[in-house]
Amino acid sequence: DDLGILVKRALEVIEKEDKILNAFISVNKQAPRGVPIGIKDNINVQGIETTCASKILKGYIATYDATVVKKLKENGFSVVGKTNLDEFAMGASTEYSAFGPTRNPHDTQRVAGGSSGGSAAAVASGEVVAALGSDTGGSIRQPAAFCGVVGFKPSYGLVSRYGLVAFASSLDQIGPITKTVEDSAILMNIIAGKDENDSTTVDRKIDFTQFIGKELPRMKIAVAKQSFNDGVEEGVKGKIDEFIKFLESLGHFVDMVDLDEIKYSVATYYIIAPAEVSSNLSRFDGVKYGLRVSAEGLREMYEKTRGIGFGDEVKRRILIGTFTLSAAYYDAYFEKAQKVRRKISTKLNSVFEQYDFIVTPTSPIVAFKIGSVSDPLVYYMMDIFTIPANLAGLPAISIPFGKVEHLPVGIQIMGPRFSDAKVLGFADYIE
Ligand code: GLN
Repeated sequence: DDLGILVKRALEVIEKEDKILNAFISVNKQAPRGVPIGIKDNINVQGIETTCASKILKGYIATYDATVVKKLKENGFSVVGKTNLDEFAMGASTEYSAFGPTRNPHDTQRVAGGSSGGSAAAVASGEVVAALGSDTGGSIRQPAAFCGVVGFKPSYGLVSRYGLVAFASSLDQIGPITKTVEDSAILMNIIAGKDENDSTTVDRKIDFTQFIGKELPRMKIAVAKQSFNDGVEEGVKGKIDEFIKFLESLGHFVDMVDLDEIKYSVATYYIIAPAEVSSNLSRFDGVKYGLRVSAEGLREMYEKTRGIGFGDEVKRRILIGTFTLSAAYYDAYFEKAQKVRRKISTKLNSVFEQYDFIVTPTSPIVAFKIGSVSDPLVYYMMDIFTIPANLAGLPAISIPFGKVEHLPVGIQIMGPRFSDAKVLGFADYIE
């Protein structure tokens, strides 16, 4: 039958493509009939290993389905595999996976982006028609941009995080990566909704497809001046210019708006996210999940397990977070960051009093060569345009808009909180 054939085909394509791409950490050869989907390997699928691309979870089999996975299964989807990511979703390239980097289908010498690089590469290469990612500071949108596909981060609170391994709980959202905007809207209709297992979910009935395929009235669009900053590659700037002309040719009203505050977003995020990491990752202690390295006493067991189990970037975040939350530094760092977070939100919300959407490049650069970046700060700066939406809980989408040479460029469209259907509708209309 048709649905059985879809899974069979997906498994065949994965078998062939993944020898090079490494988009999947595990493949579910027993996948039942249904529409094949890839799930980022920090989201639980019952009976299958959840690795978070970390050695510390070795051997951990999920005992339950994440709410999003449960809903997908109820709606005829079949999980054909778990996709690769930066360890615990901390990264921007999928090079920080304990299982090796994912390669970009447009140029296999280059990264697929991250942290949901496996999901983006799997969709871009046709291994699956859709995948789920998670986005804490850009991890759905940036790999979607690098791989030339659509990635959508919903408003905070619309999609349940139950069964998502927590990175920074106040920023994390699960969302779709697909070939078309319409597919993302369809997936949102399935995965969104209030969940008693995640108290941060809100009770709002939204039809995410309501504006799909519709002609939209004249919109007011704010293009962030910062899109033309020094750190943005010339080719990407050129694409933004082209995009502005395209919007104007469609009759929309476009203004350049100075979002000066976003220059603080990276610093703010890299205080808040690691603070939450230091707390969330304390559960990986060698007792409850996965790896346990045997040692003389309990303390030594903790130290050895965490010392061997976690990679360098994860350790760096735990250390930063533990430091900034310590009594002597709490006010200077964490509390200050919370205030700046509020300021950035206030600024964005004030822009939305006058404009329907804010447009930026998704990433200041296109996909880079695997192994070419070594300074963690260089990776952190790549998140400049994506982080603000997480800090403020806003919906944001990355859609492909042509290429620089052979490498895809993504445009980000951000809207006010809970304007998700409108963001999707607008993205669909200009797609
Ligand atoms: N690149 C960012 C980080 O390393 C974002 C990650 C994410 O959204 N999961 O934290």
